[in-house]
Amino acid sequence: MQKIGDFTLDRVIESEEPLFDAQAFLPDSTPEVIEANRDWLFPTFIDPATANLIITVQSYIIKTPRYTILVDACVGNDKERPARPMWHKMNNPYLADLAAAGVKPEEVDFVMCTHLHVDHVGWNTRLVDGRWVPTFPNAKYIFGKTELEFWLQREKTGEEGPVPNVYADSIGPVMDANQAVLVEMDHQFDNGIWFEPAPGHTPGNFVIHLESGDDKALLTGDVMHHPLQLARPDWSSRACEDRIESAKTRRALIERYADTDMMIAPAHFASPSTGHICSHGDGFKFNLTGD
Ligand SMILES: [Zn+2]
Repeated sequence: MQKIGDFTLDRVIESEEPLFDAQAFLPDSTPEVIEANRDWLFPTFIDPATANLIITVQSYIIKTPRYTILVDACVGNDKERPARPMWHKMNNPYLADLAAAGVKPEEVDFVMCTHLHVDHVGWNTRLVDGRWVPTFPNAKYIFGKTELEFWLQREKTGEEGPVPNVYADSIGPVMDANQAVLVEMDHQFDNGIWFEPAPGHTPGNFVIHLESGDDKALLTGDVMHHPLQLARPDWSSRACEDRIESAKTRRALIERYADTDMMIAPAHFASPSTGHICSHGDGFKFNLTGD
């Protein structure tokens, strides 16, 4: 757990493993650049045994003096994900781990989804008596309006993108329960917590700023998936809807915060996940600072 002024920032990990082949997940990546950055990428961010990218799927928990906020809801249990065998019908102790972090489902005041991808909305709902119901009964779920409209359109047309549409089991039940709040991508949530548009990975993707006292942090969601993208900010993932816009957003964010004291909290970086962006050779690197 880290302190950001009066806030705390904690994590609940659903999975952390050498999940993706680098070239498959970042199609522009090259073994030469990986080799040139071996000193800081291995073994923390790339598994030496398989050379696969280590990917964490996790939620961030923000506690303010008033609210408990869960950011990004992982893959979830029992979800039918045949196109993603590693995430198909999972049975993980996520809720027990959340409880171990001091949070019961009914204590979550807000769920914020940086975007509505399969690995960010799963625990929005859980299976009870054969029905998907909101996991957090007292929470308002904050969804970006642009993002929601994008997935509703996909739902209507049946069009397939790089990532399957999971509206039916992970978004719709929250809408039906009247627990969703739709906001603009630059939404001002509360003192010291606001969103900033970060489109590309998905059209409605946003990042979350935290500021309390002299401390600042930025929850960057999937603007970048793996620290290797700091070596080459233009390398977008195969999961990006618009790889060119995603690269533009990523590069701008990296250049803005490189060599500053901004704490960066990406969704998928290996534990302890949070750290700082630093210039490194002709690119950048990630310095973990830990929880
Ligand atoms: Zn993701």
